[in-house]
Amino acid sequence: MWLIMKLDGKLMLITGASRGIGRAIAIEAAKNGADVILNYVSDRSKPLVDETIKKIREMGRNAIAIQADVGNWEEVKRMKKIVDEFGKVCCLVNNAGITKDNLLIKMTKEEWDDVIRVNLSGAFYVTKIFIDHLIETKGSIIYVSSVVGQDGNIGQANYAASKAGLIGLTRALAMELARYGIRVNAIAPGFTETEMTAKIPEKVKEKIIARIPLRRFALPEEIAKAVIFLASDDASYITGVTMSISGGQRRE
Ligand code: NAP
Repeated sequence: MWLIMKLDGKLMLITGASRGIGRAIAIEAAKNGADVILNYVSDRSKPLVDETIKKIREMGRNAIAIQADVGNWEEVKRMKKIVDEFGKVCCLVNNAGITKDNLLIKMTKEEWDDVIRVNLSGAFYVTKIFIDHLIETKGSIIYVSSVVGQDGNIGQANYAASKAGLIGLTRALAMELARYGIRVNAIAPGFTETEMTAKIPEKVKEKIIARIPLRRFALPEEIAKAVIFLASDDASYITGVTMSISGGQRRE
């Protein structure tokens, strides 16, 4: 069988790659010939990341893991020093994200600040600190936004604002970085089967699914495949877009 390697020999850095969508992107990237840097933050995720690295190396690709909080400028700078020894990043996937849901009336300043710090400032810090690699490789950047950033959601003002912010960042940087040959795009996944959505009560889940034309949540692999496309030369004339991957919940 003839396998098409869309990212042959390229180095991809994925933030938040220990589980869920980030892990699926790492595996899909390796399947497509990329070497991978997997970022994560919590100690409990180390065994999971080690397992993914083993799997990627068995595919004949190289992979390393770096524990760093993307919302901490100094930790991202430390991550950069490690990556500098490993290679030049060609595809940057800003995927790390958290939720701290609450109605505005109850939402604390800490819940607001934490979500903006990790989801939005974190994506900016990583992009800013790795921009020299991307200029050198004429790379591509992908931000993982959400349908919630496009449509809003009750109880997620902090999360919706952070994800809408990523769409603005994508548009601004697509214009600004085109002169270096860097493409910048976002994806806006709908509800996807990961730990983030596992805590949704079954009754609420049923109501959400009733509003999704394809009548189910996405699998992380379905999100990952779109990321590989946008990162690859197949998307060489695509920049500044936000691609909805939402089973028809959102069509543009
Ligand atoms: P998940 O299963 O909760 O995984 C989140 C990942 O982010 C983990 O790898 C986690 O690392 C990492 N992370 C969290 N805080 C971090 C920090 N400060 N620094 C570095 N890494 C950090 O989430 P997911 O569902 O795969 O979501 C991935 C992305 O897709 C997020 O940006 C999310 O907002 C977005 N998204 C998800 C859905 C959905 O329905 N699941 C829909 C739309 C968009 P640790 O394991 O070390 O904590």
